[in-house]
Parts: sequence; C-alpha cells; structure tokens
Amino acid sequence: MSEPLYKQSMLRDGALENKVAIITGGGTGLGKAMAMEFARLGSGIIIASRKMDVLEEAAHEISEFGVKVIPISMDIRNPEQVDRMMSQAVSEFGKVDVLVNNAAGNFPVDSLEMSDNAWNAVVGIVLNGTWYCSQRAGKQMVKQGTGGSILNVGASYMWTGGPKTVHSAAAKAGILAMTKSLAVEWAPHRIRVNEIVPGAIEDTGAVRMLWSDEDTAKKVLNNIPAGRFGTSQEVANLASYLVSDYAAFVSGACFVIDSGSCLNKSVF
Ligand code: NAP
Repeated sequence: MSEPLYKQSMLRDGALENKVAIITGGGTGLGKAMAMEFARLGSGIIIASRKMDVLEEAAHEISEFGVKVIPISMDIRNPEQVDRMMSQAVSEFGKVDVLVNNAAGNFPVDSLEMSDNAWNAVVGIVLNGTWYCSQRAGKQMVKQGTGGSILNVGASYMWTGGPKTVHSAAAKAGILAMTKSLAVEWAPHRIRVNEIVPGAIEDTGAVRMLWSDEDTAKKVLNNIPAGRFGTSQEVANLASYLVSDYAAFVSGACFVIDSGSCLNKSVF
C-alpha cells in the first residue's frame, strides 16, 4: 500500500528552482525536514545553527538532492554572527530569496522559579534571533531588488498560554506581531512574510523536550482531533508552498497546522 498523501511531497519538481533559502536550525527536526523538501524542489540551501557536526551531517544528506548546501555555524542571539552568516550566504550563492526563522530554544520551567538567564536565553533565541535574521535578510532582499519570502515558525501557546512556557509564549507572540508588521512594511519591496504554527509533530525536538514522559505524550495525543501526531512532511509541504511563487499573493498570514488541537474543546 502506498504512503498516505500527508507523508508525501506536494509541490511539483523544480518548484523552488533558482532560489536560495536560509533555514535557521536546519540541521534537526522541522528545520531539517523543510531544508530537505526545499532541496528536493531545487533550491540552494544554507542551514545555520550552533553545532557544526550536526549541520555537516545534515548538509551531506540534503546535498543528495543534487543542490548546493552550505552549513554555517552561528548563534542567532549574536547580531555579528548573523551578519557573518548573511555575508557568507551571499558570497556562496550571490543572493538570498528565502529565510525560514525556525531555530528556537525552549524548556519547561515554573515561572516563579525561572532565572533571568533562562528568560533571556529563550527570548534571545526566539524573538531577538528571528529579528536579527529577518532584518539582515530584508536588507539583502531590498538590495537585490528581487523580492523574497520570510517564513516564521510559531507555537499555539502564544495565543492559548500554557503552564511553564511563559518565556517561549511571550517570544512567539512577538514573532506573530513581527510577521504582520514586516509583511506590511516590506510589501513595497515584494518581500512576503508569513508564519506557520505547527501542532505536535512526531520525532521532533519540541515533542521530545516538552512531552518526554509517556503519560504526558498520551494526554497530548488524546487532545489531537486527528488522533495522531503530525508529520514533518506535512509541515515541510506547507512551508514549501508558502515560500514558493505559488503563494505570491499570500503575505502577513499565519497558518496553523495542528488538526484543530489548539481550539477550545470545552463542553457546555
Ligand atoms: P529542534 O529540532 O529542537 O530544533 C531547534 C533548532 O534550533 C536546532 O537545530 C538548534 O540547533 C537550533 N538553535 C537553537 N538555539 C540556537 C541558537 N542560539 N542559534 C542558532 N540556532 C539555534 O526543534 P523542532 O521541534 O524541530 O522545532 C522547530 C521549530 O518549530 C521551533 O521554532 C519550534 O518552536 C517550532 N514548533 C515545533 C513543534 C514540534 O512539534 N516539533 C510544535 C510547535 C512549534 P543547534 O543546537 O545546533 O544550535
């Protein structure tokens, strides 16, 4: 029996040909799945995060699609390192068309016990890192005059709230505001800015970190209307569509891909 469609690629071959995409946190989880799919569709790829050994292994796998893949070691909390990443991307490829702000840090912590360091680490990666990368990519896209596409990655607790995630929820809420603000401000430059909000996706860092024990995983699963975790391929398909020219009329939008998990299911 063939795989269900949600585990298969969606866009036609070559849909991202001649594009160059930077994916932060592209060596693992959803970032890697998006990088693999963009590569399959013909895009040149830069994957950037801190651990070079992880990036190199992922780059090797991604390059099997026959596109150029450059791993860059950097910490998105550091604006100078983001500048360096952008310069390296431009010197390797001559341009940047797509940025996916996927990198994130998160760990559950009781807010009354949270240290300033913990707060600053998560807000620094999620909110500041997304801003540094977006602004540098925006400047490069404006300079090129070719337009571009930025895709941010949210989480539904930015709307619903939730225990032990105040640092990440606050930062992700900021990203949604950034998505809409930049979509309007940069529209004259033909730069589109969108956001995806994945639900619980199987075999990813966020799921392992937040719902590591069996009981919690079961509770999370019971709350998913589809009765299953999402797949990385489903997220990668949505991301590919949004960064592609198929979505030329889509900007400032936020797409939730969670089978309705984050909606209020209370009985009255
Ligand atoms: P993951 O595998 O843990 O990936 C996080 C990535 O961010 C890693 O590759 C990490 O690489 C990178 N990163 C962390 N800190 C960094 C820093 N300071 N500078 C540069 N890179 C850094 O996570 P994931 O589960 O795939 O999640 C990916 C995105 O989806 C995140 O934005 C997450 O909030 C969102 N999301 C995921 C789910 C899910 O079910 N998986 C659900 C909702 C939202 P290094 O360690 O090498 O730096």
